[in-house]
Amino acid sequence: MPNIDAMTARQIATEVAAGGLSATEVARSALDAIQAREPKVQAFVQVTQELALDAAARIDDARAAGEALPPLAGVPLVVKDNMNLKGTRTTCASRMLETYESPYTATCVQRMLAAGCIPVGKANMDEFAFGSSTDSSAFHPTNNPWNLDCVPGGSSGGSAAAVAAGMAALSLGSDTGGSIRQPAAFCGVVGMKPTYGAVSRYGVVAFGSSLDQVGPFGRSVEDVALAMDALVAGGRDPFDSTSQDVAPRFAEALDAGVAGKRVGIIPALMEAEGLTPEVRRGVERAASALEDAGATLIEVDLPHLDAAIAAYYVIGPAEAFSNLARFDGIRYGYQEPGCSTLAAQSSLSRAHGFGTEAKRRQMLGAYLLSSGVYDRYYYAAQKARTLITEDYARAFEQVDVILMPAAPRTAFKHGEISDPTQMYLSDMYTISINIAGNGGITVPVGLGEETGLPVGAQLVAPAFKDERLISFGAAVERACEPLGVPRAVSAEGGLL
Ligand code: GLN
Repeated sequence: MPNIDAMTARQIATEVAAGGLSATEVARSALDAIQAREPKVQAFVQVTQELALDAAARIDDARAAGEALPPLAGVPLVVKDNMNLKGTRTTCASRMLETYESPYTATCVQRMLAAGCIPVGKANMDEFAFGSSTDSSAFHPTNNPWNLDCVPGGSSGGSAAAVAAGMAALSLGSDTGGSIRQPAAFCGVVGMKPTYGAVSRYGVVAFGSSLDQVGPFGRSVEDVALAMDALVAGGRDPFDSTSQDVAPRFAEALDAGVAGKRVGIIPALMEAEGLTPEVRRGVERAASALEDAGATLIEVDLPHLDAAIAAYYVIGPAEAFSNLARFDGIRYGYQEPGCSTLAAQSSLSRAHGFGTEAKRRQMLGAYLLSSGVYDRYYYAAQKARTLITEDYARAFEQVDVILMPAAPRTAFKHGEISDPTQMYLSDMYTISINIAGNGGITVPVGLGEETGLPVGAQLVAPAFKDERLISFGAAVERACEPLGVPRAVSAEGGLL
């Protein structure tokens, strides 16, 4: 009998299409794995057993009726809890939205369901996606499946941990400053943030509207390619004005190879303070793998990269302040009982509905947009954004992709980083890519020699050339030992 947790999405879909496994068997086995492993990992805020079994039954009926199955039929999927899925609550891991019922299904989720995925649950996250550890969830922390004392990264920590722990083959996350790529690195899975505008955000709760992008997690580059094909199938979404037409050619790119291609390395990033030797060595291994596959390494410079974190922590909070104004206990969100005025209703609902980091970001945003301050910070941040975007465009005149770390270190322990500015540095390698709007992918390159925890390398491509992330990512992956499901959780459940 196959072991579901060791199967990729492609293997599951192939077996289901061939009749070797029914979708219902797969769904039950994923739910079993969740039951057995979830007490340790706590990746979910909600397990959607009924939705999963219903979707699986529909696939099995379609097969019995002789219908052709969609490409990801029977693949268990986890959805970050800032994405609407009808029949579930969408909480953003916040008291503010604890009881909010999804009125409709987000386009990204709908497209995965149309591709045949079985929704097994909603994933834990940092509250409203502010964070890099998932510890700011209002409900509970999530544990890294490789070491349960460590964080899974964030903010899409539940989505990354669920896939790493073999509780689902695919998951969706959102990435505003690194929230897919950093947890993918911490949990040893593949995570991709496509170019801004490649995937619809309709139905995804907004954080920083000029930065937010949705993308998939999987245990292989191929699975992420298949998920990307599903996410862009159907073309641009008229409900998200930033969404663009992207050809579903990701799976095709898997075998494109890298011979004769140029890979950019940024020496300053490989020498950066805070980068641990084991992560540096992991990225160097990825560089050698690409060279062995026929690519040439070329040094490039992004002279304004130093400004990226500062610019992000102006633009991100400013946009978040504006986006989160709707959660006032009147239009949306937690409603403080017993208030006699509208002003009290709004301020007390916000005071008690939001956690500390969500408040910090909004207060920062309110200040940064206030008159007199705006020019000094917001305007300056926008200028820095233009310079960083131009830096990337110039670098991509010389190279096809850029290779760098996904995070400066491997997963840290719960509570180890309490200073918010230290936490913000977790994203030093991912943030500039959101600022410029390009796509990036994290590919695991092994376990660190010192910590024994997963190390991820990040590839960045020019805007709307995201298929290169798949071809270069696949070349890196081919040279690395697969990590498998970590021992801390693999002993329990998951067997068909
Ligand atoms: N960690 C970053 C932040 O706290 C990025 C979060 C994200 O991408 N959603 O803002």
